[in-house]
Amino acid sequence: MFDTHDTIAAPATASGGAVAMIRISGPEAIAVCDRIFRGSARLADTPAYTVRFGRITDGGRTVDEVLATVFRAPRSYTGEDSVELSCHGSSYVVSEILRLLHAAGARTAEPGEFTARAFLAGKMDLAQAEAVADLIASSSRASHALATAQMRGGFSDDLHALRDRLLHLASLLELELDFSEEDVEFADRTQLRGVMEEIGAKLDTLCRSFSLGNALKQGVGVAIVGAPNAGKSTLLNRLLGEERAMVSDIAGTTRDAIEETLDIDGVLFRFIDTAGLRRTDDRLERMGIERTLAAAARARIILRVTDAADDAAASPPLLPPLRDDQRLIEAINKIDRCSRLTLPAGALGISARDGIGIDALRRALRDAVDTEALYHGDTVVSTARHYNALASARAALDRALAALCAGRPADLLSEELHHVLHHLGTITGEITTDEILGNIFSKFCIGK
Ligand code: GDP
Repeated sequence: MFDTHDTIAAPATASGGAVAMIRISGPEAIAVCDRIFRGSARLADTPAYTVRFGRITDGGRTVDEVLATVFRAPRSYTGEDSVELSCHGSSYVVSEILRLLHAAGARTAEPGEFTARAFLAGKMDLAQAEAVADLIASSSRASHALATAQMRGGFSDDLHALRDRLLHLASLLELELDFSEEDVEFADRTQLRGVMEEIGAKLDTLCRSFSLGNALKQGVGVAIVGAPNAGKSTLLNRLLGEERAMVSDIAGTTRDAIEETLDIDGVLFRFIDTAGLRRTDDRLERMGIERTLAAAARARIILRVTDAADDAAASPPLLPPLRDDQRLIEAINKIDRCSRLTLPAGALGISARDGIGIDALRRALRDAVDTEALYHGDTVVSTARHYNALASARAALDRALAALCAGRPADLLSEELHHVLHHLGTITGEITTDEILGNIFSKFCIGK
């Protein structure tokens, strides 16, 4: 799938900046650059990890003045000889240099090909390589913390520890097979079960963390729900500090769900402003309400807005029951209109119009997301591929446990344990296929 014998080149920076960087990697990287680079010495004679000033020339014409940084195998990002050319950020200059590099023997890199080479050279495992893409895409302190922890290898270390324990169990069982005539048990079944249950508990913890990890990476979904005219759109505008949602006095105007994002103290929230919840015969409005309910079902936080003047107890509870990982925040709106108001327990009194109670509401939103685990170094799984592999590993472990409890023979047990190992191995890339690699790296940007 990825040919690593040739030399690749690609821009590593997005266009529009003052400076651009073009990256070249592969066995011929330095020689290719020397064909178009004119400096005080050849790059081939330049020590590794040194920057040299020079010109890129096309025949007699100077294309640009550049800085060339030389890296030598195996101590480079890709593990290969590499050069990074920093040039001026003109899209013309960049495309000219790339054209010259191609003529000099480099080919255009596929998306993610530099990182794929780093993985294939053993510079990082697959989970770490995926974290590189997450880091580039990270847009909040929390998603950044997720990516950097995974890049440092925290998750990979957890998986290796699990893998070692499983391998030990499997090898004890396999030893029994060698002595099958003698009917010995090297692996005490009670102990074996204890260890398998511990591994299962660890897998469960990792699986559970995905709900938080996924929310932090994609943005924590907040569904703003409540009766028409309760002030949902006004509240969303107030939270965002901008006039983005439509505000109207006509009940039922917000027919389409609107999504807006907001960073509160390092966590990205995705707000879903929704059509008013009320019983209606209008088909279009009915559809909006159904979308509301679907969005609320996906959201991690339900922010229910009630008009302080309405009798909350009289309005029917249209919300489906909350899931374990969902939190409800109750906001009683338009308190500016009430001189005396007793709030229900746990509810926040706000005025979306006048901005009263909005800071407290922001705090309540932030507090509804528990990032303790993330900032205290626990592994938080944030990639669906990893979650699926962990869930498959858990299912295989359950089969092994069932086989153990049923007193099944050692070879069957060891086979199931190897299935668990297989699924865990796909996460870090000990076990991989071209298809898996293709899927992962095709989502990267060019030049990474
Ligand atoms: P939605 O249907 O729930 O989205 O409600 P809107 O945000 O469109 O608001 C309905 C009406 O209530 C508008 O006329 C708003 O100006 C008004 N409104 C919203 N919030 C407040 C508030 O805090 N105080 C007062 N007095 N009026 C508000």
